[in-house]
Amino acid sequence: MEKIKLKDFSKQELEKYIVSLGEPKFRAKQIYKWLYEKISDFDQMTNIPKALRGRLKEECVINTLIIEKRFVSRLDGTRRYLLKLGDGNYIESVLMKYIHGYSICVSSQVGCAMGCKFCASTIGGKRRDLTPGEIIDQIITVERDLGERISNIVMMGVGEPLDNFENVTAFIKNVNDPDGMNIGQRHITLSTCGIVPRIYELADMRLQITLAVSLHEADNEARSRIMPINRKYNIKELMKACGYYAKKTGRRITFEYTLIKGVTDGPAAAEKLAALLRGMLCHVNLIPVNAVEGTGFSPSDSGGVEEFLNRLNARGISATVRREMGSDISAACGQLRASRGT
Ligand code: SAH
Repeated sequence: MEKIKLKDFSKQELEKYIVSLGEPKFRAKQIYKWLYEKISDFDQMTNIPKALRGRLKEECVINTLIIEKRFVSRLDGTRRYLLKLGDGNYIESVLMKYIHGYSICVSSQVGCAMGCKFCASTIGGKRRDLTPGEIIDQIITVERDLGERISNIVMMGVGEPLDNFENVTAFIKNVNDPDGMNIGQRHITLSTCGIVPRIYELADMRLQITLAVSLHEADNEARSRIMPINRKYNIKELMKACGYYAKKTGRRITFEYTLIKGVTDGPAAAEKLAALLRGMLCHVNLIPVNAVEGTGFSPSDSGGVEEFLNRLNARGISATVRREMGSDISAACGQLRASRGT
């Protein structure tokens, strides 16, 4: 029988499970706290009776991930991890070091079903969703390996978080809980390609997380060519949902825009983007595309990037160019898993 992954439980679900074992409620809170103390063994739960520890050992697991490979950048300390799941699948996480602390980029699915033309994560499609515990274990596994606390989380690894809505929101709750990881919602960013109904649902939860939207094109037809999701939810619907999110949460939305040479980086594209975002509470992150084998796309040169940025700024749009990190270990999304052929 497959073992229970304890970090998949919410606090309430854990309580239900512990009570079902004939134990008092307060044990559940003790166990919940231990899980996020980053212990690896049930015997480290020193305030839990031995008999219960034994029972848990038989039925449950604490950790769901094994570090298969680790690459450390010599340029900026960025670390890229290939992690093995209990069922033999692989995922990847990237740790970035900033002046204000460590930030981790986590995966939400094994593969991705969205089919964006420039992205390595979607090659081979989606295998399965990650469970809440498998998402949070990326942070815990890397923190333990690093020996330091991670303060920021970005859901920009492999997968589409809003295509795994329940598990991702359950994950956010355990990350945020003072007895859990205790990381503030404002330190969490969720990036989506634009699954419109889920953006409304997320807005109604009134979380204080940052929503990042992968826009990459302001022209509807051009966006459909590189992002199939746009055929289902077009730019107009997407922008309406973004407006709703900003209004409900009071949070500024981040738009990600990859600069693909000769495709998304022309002057007309910049003007169109500026017009689309005019008057909106937002920030634009410009990302020169990472060349992924087989896509035929290459990044804009630095002059093109500068010009695009200047055009946006001249129109009063807040925008910056994302600093490339870990370039010597190809730390960008999906590249590791893809290169392994899994
Ligand atoms: N599915 C989510 C989150 C994962 S991708 C989303 O689409 O937002 C995280 C970001 O990296 C997205 O903005 C995605 O479009 C971008 N991305 C994907 N492939 C890229 C590439 N080859 N170069 C640069 N950015 C890329």
